[in-house]
Amino acid sequence: MPELPEVEVTRRSFADRIAGASILRVQMGKPLRWPLGCEEAALQGRSVVSVTRRGKYLLLNLDRGVLLLHLGMSGSLQFDQVLPARGVHDHFELLTSRGTLRLHDPRRFGAVVYADALDSATAAKLLGGLGVEPLEGGFDPLAFHRALQLRRSAIKQVLLAGDIVVGVGNIYASEALFMAGIRPTLRADRLSKPRAARLHMAIVQVLTRAVALGGSTLRDFSSAEGQSGYFQLDAFVYGRDGNPCRVCGTPVKAIRQGQRSTFFCTTCQKN
Ligand code: ZN
Repeated sequence: MPELPEVEVTRRSFADRIAGASILRVQMGKPLRWPLGCEEAALQGRSVVSVTRRGKYLLLNLDRGVLLLHLGMSGSLQFDQVLPARGVHDHFELLTSRGTLRLHDPRRFGAVVYADALDSATAAKLLGGLGVEPLEGGFDPLAFHRALQLRRSAIKQVLLAGDIVVGVGNIYASEALFMAGIRPTLRADRLSKPRAARLHMAIVQVLTRAVALGGSTLRDFSSAEGQSGYFQLDAFVYGRDGNPCRVCGTPVKAIRQGQRSTFFCTTCQKN
C-alpha cells in the first residue's frame, strides 16, 4: 500500500511539470472508491495551479476547486506527454496541455474526488480527521507525548489511526518503533516523555529517509515517472520475520495487530 513517503515522492515527480497546465478532458474507467463528485465536462478548461499533499491525499489545486486524489491500496500515478495505450486497470485520466495524468489502480480502493474548496464539506469529510503532518513544523514532541497520554490502545495502533500524526502507515510504524526501541504492543499512555520524544524523532527520521530514497518498492508502487523506490531493501524489521535483527541478531518476530502484520525485535524492543 502506498504510504506517506510514496505519496510524497509521487507528488514531487510531477508537481512541477503539471503546474500551469490546463485541463483538456477527463476520462474515467470503472468506478473507484468514491464518485468524482462533479460532471467530468465541468473540469474542462480549468487549470492546475499546484499539487500539494495532506496525509496520503494529493491535492490538485485548480484555479477553481480542487481534486483530492488517493492511491488507495494499489494505486499509482503516471504523468507524461505521451503514455502507452490505456489498460484495463487505468481508471482515471486527466488530459492536460502539459501531458496526461493517469491513475492505475487494479484494486480500485483509490479515488479522485472533486471539491469546490478545501474548506468545503466534501473536502472536510476526507481531510477533517487527519492529525498533524509528521514532516512539517507542527509535529512537536511534547504535544505528541500529551496526545499519547490520552490513548490506551497499543502504540502501533495509535500511530496507524492517523489522528494524532498522519501518514505513519504499517511499514513505517514498525520501523519507527524499532528505531525508538519501543514494543509495538505497549499502551500509548505508558510512554514516558523521553520515550515519546525518541519515537517522535524516529518517525521524522524514518519518513525523511524513505522520501529521500524514493519510497518503498512495494508491489504496485512507482512514482509518476515510473521509477521505483527502494526503502524496503534496508528495512530493519518490516517483512523480516524469522531473519536475524540487524542490530542484535535475535530473530525478528511477526504478530497480528488489528488485522495488520507487526514486526519487532523482542530484544531491542523489550517493552
Ligand atoms: Zn534486536
